[in-house]
Amino acid sequence: MARIFIVDDVEDNIKLLWYNLEDDGHEVASANSGQACIDQAPAFKPDVILLDMMMPGMSGIETLKVLKTLPEVENVPVIMVSADDSDDSIIDALDIGAHDFISKPFIYPVLEARVRSAVRLKQSQEELGAANERLAILASTDSLTGCFNRRHFFEMSQLEFAKATRHGRPLSVVMLDADKFKAINDTYGHAMGDEALKAIADTCRSCLRESDILARLGGEEFALCCAETNRDGAAQLAERIRQAIEKTTVELDGQAINFTLSLGVTELGEGDISFDQLINRADQLLYQAKSNNRNCVVAG
Ligand SMILES: [Mg+2]
Repeated sequence: MARIFIVDDVEDNIKLLWYNLEDDGHEVASANSGQACIDQAPAFKPDVILLDMMMPGMSGIETLKVLKTLPEVENVPVIMVSADDSDDSIIDALDIGAHDFISKPFIYPVLEARVRSAVRLKQSQEELGAANERLAILASTDSLTGCFNRRHFFEMSQLEFAKATRHGRPLSVVMLDADKFKAINDTYGHAMGDEALKAIADTCRSCLRESDILARLGGEEFALCCAETNRDGAAQLAERIRQAIEKTTVELDGQAINFTLSLGVTELGEGDISFDQLINRADQLLYQAKSNNRNCVVAG
């Protein structure tokens, strides 16, 4: 069953197709001019458009050109219906992006088979689109925590760095690392360690704004890139996250643990020419936090 939109200036042609297609279980709508098709087809969300070539006013070709510019229907297969199969405009129509054509008078079962073929094409294109979206998400996120991964973090943050540098806007970076994480894994097992990592991601998310970029860089190390945020703002955010984690108890299989975070915070300065410089500075500040007995924020 498909949704089929018929465009023809002759009412009898529409009726004939409509009855046949409905008998075959399709849902049908129609228009009697190119302009009416452009006005009505997007809302109908057709799977296939059957478009008459010869119409007064806006021709089939002209209608097709406009359909290919409308985001709602640009990927809907269009089958041109032509009175003359030697018509040169069939070539034009295929070049503009028509899926197929059929000549009048047509044999209905052949037309219906072509409709089915167009519907299959549209379905496989949609499935491919959805698969590509899933791949893009997989390629950019850390599967355990749902945070961005290292590669995607650097791609996004480098764009923010370029924007901030160009417009003289503030930008800060926070590096976070779970304290004594190896001991959690060694004492309670890796499943508990994983729960702790998920708790860090959830806690960070609950403290962040939409524009902040959060990533798990690897192991128990996370990073934040905060656009439009100076060092003081980022240090306050880091402190909120530190306190929230300190109060969080992670539970698994009847066991419960508490742990802490060390954080390093820095902001974009005059001499910074790459995002990596900010990351390296935040990393050094993070290690200062570690050597200051951990569970603290060091901003510099
Ligand atoms: Mg006609």
